[in-house]
Amino acid sequence: MITLNINGFEVEIKEGSTIYQAASSIGVKIPTLCHDERLKPHGSCRICVVEVEGARSLVASCSTPASNGMVVHTESESVITARREILDLMLANHPLDCLTCEKAGRCTLQDLCYQYDIEESSFDGKKKKYEKDTSNEFYYADQTKCILCGKCVYVCSQVQNTDAICFVDRGFETHVGTPFDLGLAKSTCVSCGNCVAACPVGALMPKRKEKFRYWEIDKVKTTCSYCGVGCQMELLVKDNKVVEVEPVKGHSNDGMLCVKGRFSYDFINHSSRLKKPMVRKNGVLEEVSWDEAYDVIANKITEVKESDGADAITGFSSARALTEENYLMTKLMRAVIGTNNIDHCARL
Ligand code: SF4
Ligand code: SF4
Ligand code: SF4
Repeated sequence: MITLNINGFEVEIKEGSTIYQAASSIGVKIPTLCHDERLKPHGSCRICVVEVEGARSLVASCSTPASNGMVVHTESESVITARREILDLMLANHPLDCLTCEKAGRCTLQDLCYQYDIEESSFDGKKKKYEKDTSNEFYYADQTKCILCGKCVYVCSQVQNTDAICFVDRGFETHVGTPFDLGLAKSTCVSCGNCVAACPVGALMPKRKEKFRYWEIDKVKTTCSYCGVGCQMELLVKDNKVVEVEPVKGHSNDGMLCVKGRFSYDFINHSSRLKKPMVRKNGVLEEVSWDEAYDVIANKITEVKESDGADAITGFSSARALTEENYLMTKLMRAVIGTNNIDHCARL
């Protein structure tokens, strides 16, 4: 363990931790745009700079190791001046369309400009211009809003392990693109949307079917029902309707989802979704009570068992059900009905 001083507070932390981690451990918030605990530190945005007594210049706290006896200031005058300068430079090449930007309310750049009172850039010059890449079915890329933080690129390569996107060109022309700039649809992208979830600005956004603002939604934490991995996610709900899905960090899926969990939520509010038991009577499906439905099932199973034996019956369970539910299904088939004919949808 090492001990350092941050903003006048003593902090004890494991050797090898960064200044940012030491500050976070005592609740001192340092702003970041490119930092993500799942990635190797890359110090791209510099907004997390802090002052270290005795150091020649400000240091990026996300990539500088904390050391014994270090004295750190995270909100000194020089730190604030540097952060304002960085935001000023970023805004010099960023459309100020917060009124219509779909990220408004959850844009880290917007939040930081508010925190450090930056209304517009004091710099003038060439602006970057890119066509939106809308070729992916589920999300779009708008490189005019990109601040080149690199999170999307590194999430795709280091966490998702797909390597579909990378930095293309150099200097002013640098942008996030696909090989030969052929567009997302022609890349190896698997549409997981994990880059979208990581983007701190409106450069990567889900294609929405509903218009909403982030302050209008309620979040409901739940488990993805598509497969047995059981990823944790948050449903964004507006007026009792699911309008978007976001991954949750800190669980086994650690902020990652696949394309199904992330983008395939339309069925939840679909008008033809089956919500009540139905029984076919005289060739027509009719809504019935659960009791009546169970009676029909039990009677039919008993009928078949009596006429043809238990092995004439097969049970198919679901990889989308819980382990406990699958256990009960096995018990039902083997112990109650008396057959070993039991399987599940993942092997169909
Ligand atoms: S959607 Fe997934 S695979 Fe495609 S670029 Fe983003 S992180 Fe990579
Ligand atoms: S698209 Fe978003 S996540 Fe990717 S580099 Fe640009 S700002 Fe960062
Ligand atoms: S998000 Fe994908 S991997 Fe995760 S539980 Fe859902 S279907 Fe399975």
